[in-house]
Amino acid sequence: MIRIAQPIIGPEEEEAVLAALRSGQLAQGPLVAQFEAAFARYLGVRHAVAVSSGTAALYVALRAHDIGPGDEVLVPAFTFAATANAVLLAGARPILVDIKKVDFTIDPKRIEAAITPRTKAVLPVHLYGHPCDMTAIGEIARRHSLAVIEDAAQAAGASWQGRKAGSFGTGCFSFYATKNMTTGEGGMVATDDDEVARRARLLRDHGEGERYRTDLLGGNFRLTELAAALGLAQLPKLDAWNERRRANAAWLSEHLEGVEPPTERAGAYHVYHQYTVRVPNGRRGALLARLREQEIEAVVYYPRCLHQQPLYQQLGIGGSFPVAERAAEEVLSLPVHPALSQHDLERIAAAVNEATAAVGVERG
Ligand SMILES: *Cc1c(COP(=O)(O)O)cnc(C)c1O
Repeated sequence: MIRIAQPIIGPEEEEAVLAALRSGQLAQGPLVAQFEAAFARYLGVRHAVAVSSGTAALYVALRAHDIGPGDEVLVPAFTFAATANAVLLAGARPILVDIKKVDFTIDPKRIEAAITPRTKAVLPVHLYGHPCDMTAIGEIARRHSLAVIEDAAQAAGASWQGRKAGSFGTGCFSFYATKNMTTGEGGMVATDDDEVARRARLLRDHGEGERYRTDLLGGNFRLTELAAALGLAQLPKLDAWNERRRANAAWLSEHLEGVEPPTERAGAYHVYHQYTVRVPNGRRGALLARLREQEIEAVVYYPRCLHQQPLYQQLGIGGSFPVAERAAEEVLSLPVHPALSQHDLERIAAAVNEATAAVGVERG
């Protein structure tokens, strides 16, 4: 089976985790601080605050910006549900915005129509590893005094016009096992804002400004030393892995037939967390079934938009999002991860081309 994702764990990772285990300190300590410093340097930001997951990063970032009940946050209608769930967990209301057809990210042209006096922030998602148009989003945010909180869970190492995704506003990263780099579970909040960083550090650790003095309502969202050891071993390899993903994506785009390959906009450095094609005309199910027969794990990220989720329907969070709906009907992600061999790529292309010929998929 060619898997859709595969963590790459080598001797450096094994030794680093063993050394952390033997150090006697397992919970947040010096390795977490080192990992934060290395990640901040990598992104080119002043502060990085390590947390226990990408979801925790989003929640902590929203709360660090003082977003809560009565506030609205603009979120793309097409994303992993954790993006908008974090807004709900913070007590605020996600307001959905349609996406662009070309790269599946939030459409800046539709943001302003969704702004109300209650809007506090915009939460763009660098979906599949393709950076959002942070120039346009930044201008709108400045004009309306909105915070920018980036969901960069899929975009570690991506950049927009030479600047790293997650460094424009408050960046939220995930190091879940399938992401471009991993700590098993883990996340990071990155920011240039001293006050946001200060609050994020409090929020991840029970809101205690001093030991046993509760200043704000926080929780336990700390990263372990074991996870930080993994992160320190993975981070130096991230750029080379992303280059491998890009080379795999370029090869696939050159050799696949009958599907619409992903695009990389001018100014974007796409890190292909997913290599996502469109399969038009309702033929996706048939293609998926044939790929599974050939032991190629292709996955639909994501089959439902947020407004099509039962929870969001119960909460009355909806609207009209035709571009997002069409994406949910057409997208299919194929393996692109750096552990693929040339033989794997050839198997994927052969299987896709054979299947699209058989089920009569046409380029849309
Ligand atoms: C993975 C992911 C998250 C959540 O990260 P976890 O570490 O799994 O909590 C949030 N948003 C997006 C877009 C993701 O891909």
